[in-house]
Amino acid sequence: MIVKAGLWVKVMTEVPRILLLGGTEEAVRLNHLLSERAELSVVTSLAGRTSAPTALNGEVITGGFGGQEGLETFLTEKSVDYIIDATHPFASQITNSAFMACQKLGINYLRLDRPPWPEKQDDIWIKARNVEEAADKHETYSRIFLSIGRQELTAFQQLSNKQFLVRSIEAVAFNPPASTVRFIQARGPFSLAAELELFKEYQIEVLVSKNSGGDATYAKIAAARELGLPVIMIERPEGPNCTTFQDVDGLFQAFLLGRNTCT
Ligand code: NAP
Repeated sequence: MIVKAGLWVKVMTEVPRILLLGGTEEAVRLNHLLSERAELSVVTSLAGRTSAPTALNGEVITGGFGGQEGLETFLTEKSVDYIIDATHPFASQITNSAFMACQKLGINYLRLDRPPWPEKQDDIWIKARNVEEAADKHETYSRIFLSIGRQELTAFQQLSNKQFLVRSIEAVAFNPPASTVRFIQARGPFSLAAELELFKEYQIEVLVSKNSGGDATYAKIAAARELGLPVIMIERPEGPNCTTFQDVDGLFQAFLLGRNTCT
């Protein structure tokens, strides 16, 4: 590295070193695209939340870096030239760490941010700014489909006398007082027909969802619309102030052209 105007500015190594932050299907695609290029050195990083993640090529590390400081140490020791952030739109901690570390160390940062789902005609969306606000909006419903992953279910733990349907990829512990809970362990994509069947079978009155965007889990939103049911829709956390890419191909092309969207 060299010091320039008080900033650490990286000198590009001959083989560009990339840290790909994963945890999404888009990250899997990027891992495959990047690993086809012999001229690149790619490390893919996962948080380690999923016991059987989709197969990835090349070096894969798991378990986090120890906050922004730990990430900075990793980036420096490994002489990383690029972070490609393909984490989930709600994974704001790792995104903020990565963005801040890149800014500080003068490393290129490219972020994938799939567009949120738009509210369509006949959708009945009750918007919530976060999961706690979503949990506060339940008084009038007793049969609730929680499809928000497993990490933030604790916000719903204090709701009593409800009937929950909880769907997540991994098994989860969730036992609100005087409530019944049915668990479904499944990974998308889900079809509209299957989602309609599920809503009917469990006589769902309201769906709780994050506005994750993408096709894999959209059928539940379409099913709620078709059945005239409300959706408590949790809005996205704000991301870093920089240009993002909506799809894998756009990001990959920008990367090949050497673009850095967040300096
Ligand atoms: P988060 O709140 O942003 O991150 C929490 C901590 O987990 C981070 O501070 C970091 O630990 C570690 N971490 C997260 N993603 C990582 C990655 N790709 N590589 C290494 N460490 C990572 O993230 P989250 O919401 O818990 O999500 C965890 C993972 O699941 C992410 O990779 C995300 O893409 C995926 N995911 C999340 C959601 C969701 O709704 N949040 C949905 C689907 C998939 P250190 O601080 O120790 O580095």
